[in-house]
Amino acid sequence: MYEPNRPLEIQDLHQESPRQGEVRISMEAAGICASDHHATTGRMKMPLPVVLGHEGSGTVVEVGPGVSRVKLGDRCILSFMSLCGYCRQCRSGTGLCETHALTRNMLFDGTVRLHREDIEIQQMGKIGVFAESVVVPQEACYPFKDELSPQAAALIGCCVTTGAGAVINSSVASAGMTVAVFGCGGVGLSVIQGARLMNASRIIAVDVYSHKLEFSYKFGATDVVNSRETDPVEAIVELTGGGVDMAFDSFGGSITTAAAFNSVRKGGTAVVIGLSNPGESPPIDLYQMAVSQKSLVGSFYGSANPHETFSKLARFCSRDVLDVDSLITRTYSLDEVNDGLEALERGEDGRGVILF
Ligand SMILES: [Zn+2]
Ligand SMILES: [Zn+2]
Repeated sequence: MYEPNRPLEIQDLHQESPRQGEVRISMEAAGICASDHHATTGRMKMPLPVVLGHEGSGTVVEVGPGVSRVKLGDRCILSFMSLCGYCRQCRSGTGLCETHALTRNMLFDGTVRLHREDIEIQQMGKIGVFAESVVVPQEACYPFKDELSPQAAALIGCCVTTGAGAVINSSVASAGMTVAVFGCGGVGLSVIQGARLMNASRIIAVDVYSHKLEFSYKFGATDVVNSRETDPVEAIVELTGGGVDMAFDSFGGSITTAAAFNSVRKGGTAVVIGLSNPGESPPIDLYQMAVSQKSLVGSFYGSANPHETFSKLARFCSRDVLDVDSLITRTYSLDEVNDGLEALERGEDGRGVILF
């Protein structure tokens, strides 16, 4: 990506060998996520040029000096946050590593491994998986032995962890709870599956597309509300006799976050997962927030150490209680990446994945 609002360019780049603590991964699958789309429209700002893609899986094919966490031939889920393990955030168990944030789309030493002539090219989330091969920090790699398809492993790298993790890692989620999920894309459908894993008694899916709502039943939705036809807050309050225990905004926007907040019961919790425009804020009645003792919290990348969440979700897949493969409705070659981004924009069901 050289600039926003233009198709991504498919080019051959010069890729350096892995340096200290880095490995080269031959990519097997890469999911196309709303955050990639937000980058292409300029809604999510990042230094350019950059290779997009932050949800992928592949195999270790070259190991740099000082690598101890993975070995040649390991199949890995890649994490778009590489956790240093030593900063305050890492020590407290979040996935919000401060050391990663310092260099963000560059490697940990603050340099890049990709060049086109003398232009330096960054990698989204230190991985940039819309590429046949990537050089990444060993901290990005979660080697797995579970029986996962390459595409399921890729989706655990972002959408499934972001969605299901927000539920299973929540300290307020409990068996029998009632849940509303705003937005039924890859992340929203993963929230629905996370709620099913937590034995939620009622899971209400909300979207503006009837076909997406129909698709959401497959993943555990018990009720659906088309917010283009019906006021979702009124419908949810009516269905549950006062509001849900937890509501999740997987879309990320002032309207959907306010609706999620207004659809929880007194003492309930609304969780913001989707990324809105920076600076955007929801119209929320703070008086009501206090007197109804509601919580509004954020969740990023499953609210925990991503590798911990990957390991739980991979186990759930092996036990067939989490269905990641059915989220994938379209596959592409790398050359078709722009078609995949357009399908996402049109609101097509499920996830599109690039297979290498
Ligand atoms: Zn993503
Ligand atoms: Zn850290």
